[in-house]
Amino acid sequence: MTDIVDRATRSRMMAHIRSRDTTPERAARRELYHLGIRYRLHGGKLPGRPDIVIRRLRTVIFVHGCFWHQHSGCRMAYMPKSNVEFWQRKLQGNVARDARNQALLMEQGWRVVVIWECETRDREVLRELLARWLALEAPAEITD
Ligand SMILES: [Zn+2]
Repeated sequence: MTDIVDRATRSRMMAHIRSRDTTPERAARRELYHLGIRYRLHGGKLPGRPDIVIRRLRTVIFVHGCFWHQHSGCRMAYMPKSNVEFWQRKLQGNVARDARNQALLMEQGWRVVVIWECETRDREVLRELLARWLALEAPAEITD
């Protein structure tokens, strides 16, 4: 995890980690919905097929798994101890491809937002993060 959240928020995040029937991508979509953001799924023709496309804001969002996309500094982004060479090549390949796709998208005038799996576990944190990325007003209280 990076330093995008403060200590108190982090411990709240950790306390709230629990299994639920939602994937990180679904969590992100739900908070966008509550923020009143209209989006499309899977920009099929865009580099890297972003998970979420917000045309009005010329913004694409990738919801990345911390392991597969090697979230820098995140404890979920460990390197497996066996088959090290395979995993290194595989995971570094993912990271390199992400960087390439993001560069292409930016060349096309898209703002690229990456939401990490570990940032999707606490709704409040996630909603604040999305609102900040999308430069919206402070998000409303979560009431549902
Ligand atoms: Zn992470």
